[in-house]
Amino acid sequence: MRLRAARHWVFDMDGTLTVAVHDFPAIKRALGIPQDQDILHHLAALPADEAAAKHAWLLEHERELAIGSVAAVGAVDLVRALHQRGCRLGILTRNAHELALLTLAAIGLGDCFDTADVIGRGEAIPKPDPDGLLQLAARWGVQPGEMVMVGDYRFDLDCARAAGAQGVLVNLPDNPWPELTDHHALDCQALLAALQ
Ligand SMILES: [Mg+2]
Repeated sequence: MRLRAARHWVFDMDGTLTVAVHDFPAIKRALGIPQDQDILHHLAALPADEAAAKHAWLLEHERELAIGSVAAVGAVDLVRALHQRGCRLGILTRNAHELALLTLAAIGLGDCFDTADVIGRGEAIPKPDPDGLLQLAARWGVQPGEMVMVGDYRFDLDCARAAGAQGVLVNLPDNPWPELTDHHALDCQALLAALQ
């Protein structure tokens, strides 16, 4: 499938549609998580009380980041253009659903996404697992091969590859994962230009 013909688009949020602000090493230090471990993976393995307390801290920390979100270069124009073309649009994020909605509203894109198409860490097994993409494929009644996943990290590309969707990498000038990338664009502005 050619990218230009794609009608079903799924976006990572943080660092893809927004300017990346999460300081993951600092979050790990605050939560007592070893630097080489994945945050969500680590929390999932903790006793229920400790996991709940740390999830609550994470939610509050990320809420402040969400309210102050700034759109990434070209992100608003790209999403608006696809929305105007009548494409189905989804979000697949390791952030929380409610914070994703807050973030989208903060950057002025709240009206472009159906709330049920915004999948956070509570609605699917987190990326790189393809669960969220496969859920959207089923919801939209399309084959994963007809979908495009746009992100700024290898989890986004791994997720796309595992689902059988096209993986697009943005916001990283030098692509560290060419073997996982179907299309590389400097940023969302360049991606939009490639679609016209
Ligand atoms: Mg990201």
